[in-house]
Amino acid sequence: MSGTVKISYNVNNIKSNITWDVKNIIFKWQGIIFGGFVRDSIIAEHYGQLFWEKHNYNKHYWNEQFDPSTAARTLIPNDVDICLNNEQNVNKMMEDITALFIREFGNANVKFTKRLLSRNSLDFKSYIDNPIGNLYTYTYTIVVGEIPYVSLGTPFNYSFDIITTPKKHLKPPFNRLDFLCNCFIMTNHGEIMMSNCTGTEIDKLKLVEKKEIESKILKDMINFKTDYCMKFMKISNNNSYASVKSNSLACNRIEKMCNKKYPWTIQNMPIIIEQPKKLVSMCRNCCICQDTIKNKQRYIAMPALDSNNKEIQGPPMHTDCFFKYMNSQIQDKKRDCENISYNIGSADYEDNCKIFLRCPMRNEIDFDIQNITNIIERYLKS
Ligand SMILES: [Zn+2]
Repeated sequence: MSGTVKISYNVNNIKSNITWDVKNIIFKWQGIIFGGFVRDSIIAEHYGQLFWEKHNYNKHYWNEQFDPSTAARTLIPNDVDICLNNEQNVNKMMEDITALFIREFGNANVKFTKRLLSRNSLDFKSYIDNPIGNLYTYTYTIVVGEIPYVSLGTPFNYSFDIITTPKKHLKPPFNRLDFLCNCFIMTNHGEIMMSNCTGTEIDKLKLVEKKEIESKILKDMINFKTDYCMKFMKISNNNSYASVKSNSLACNRIEKMCNKKYPWTIQNMPIIIEQPKKLVSMCRNCCICQDTIKNKQRYIAMPALDSNNKEIQGPPMHTDCFFKYMNSQIQDKKRDCENISYNIGSADYEDNCKIFLRCPMRNEIDFDIQNITNIIERYLKS
């Protein structure tokens, strides 16, 4: 055959088709799905339904350019977070999933890596790193459409983070909710509910209030609006390693949220995330690397006060530059922690527990949300 043959596959379409069977397997082993997967499924289903109401044919369903107002129907999560109570089921569940992928895509087109972060409650560091249980990560790389001599095919990843905990009453997100939009858990097809282990005041609300706030969180979610609620690990004898870990986790989650394809409005962050402005042409420079921030780029700024005590935006920074700046401080602090022995309770120790992240203007950044009562009240009143 001469010339090139262009074969394109819509990866989202393929992933969506396989996801129903993946979920079947997870539910068969009593897995609870949580986090971004549930959030993105709710959003995609909502916009999918709007699409079907408008168009009674499916030829363009996976074409994002077609009917952009419902483009989020094509949102397919890249990874699945699963909680299992029975450690023995991890292997069995993943064997089923591997077999499904091989059946669907062929042995030669499925590769995977497996990683285990096991929890050792006697080892202080492992206890902080995995406060809930063991974490298994499986990452599959699947190639579709490979035809020898014609096409190399299109690769995509599908990954699974499985947390095991023997505590049956402890449901995800294990009292460590990061954003309100991630508070839902899925226990079967169509069975989605708000978790009662968010670690926020929501868990203590009366049923009616809980249902009320649930529907408001959902409504905000489909409009890509949410609130930040990251609470830092509180363990007895608060110590610097736990603080480094919490800050690193917070930066990770926020960075992930900033880089989402569909931009989120986060209503209460210690930093301001600005979305690109299409109509306003501005020329501003990043205060970290001094390069221009392009009009189509998102950027980060710190909230500041003007002379009248009104909140304004501080100098802008590229999102990448900002997180590199944060991560280098986290790495430095981590090194410090590893060099000093864990002398819990010493004066040195207490000093190290304080907030250590600073913005380029040298102001402290505290990513720990002390309480989210105000946010909950705002939801209930709105
Ligand atoms: Zn920059």
